[in-house]
Amino acid sequence: MSFVWGMPGGYMSPATAELAKSRQSGDAKTARAKARELEERLDRAMLACEAMWSLLRDKLGVTDVELVQRINDLDLSDGKLDGKVRKSAVSCPKCNRTISPRFPQCMYCGQPIVHDPFA
Ligand SMILES: [Zn+2]
Repeated sequence: MSFVWGMPGGYMSPATAELAKSRQSGDAKTARAKARELEERLDRAMLACEAMWSLLRDKLGVTDVELVQRINDLDLSDGKLDGKVRKSAVSCPKCNRTISPRFPQCMYCGQPIVHDPFA
């Protein structure tokens, strides 16, 4: 039996291997379902975004060039033109310590923090 423990990757009985395969298969199904759910949410968000854009263009006359310029300006607001806007650290208005933008209140003094929803 000792040679078994020395095998790379360890030893699995056929039953254990079958169970692991089943778990992996379940994990893959869960991952596929999650990916499908995310795609559906992304499709809905893109549809809402496109609807808002068409309203701005049609009712206010905003042009595609202005939209692209604004996208680039916002992209550059975190210092990098990379297609992403990263949330940056903020200062607590009460104790002035630097805090994570992920928390709804200051982790040092408990001051509730109102974050910019688009930041
Ligand atoms: Zn604070």
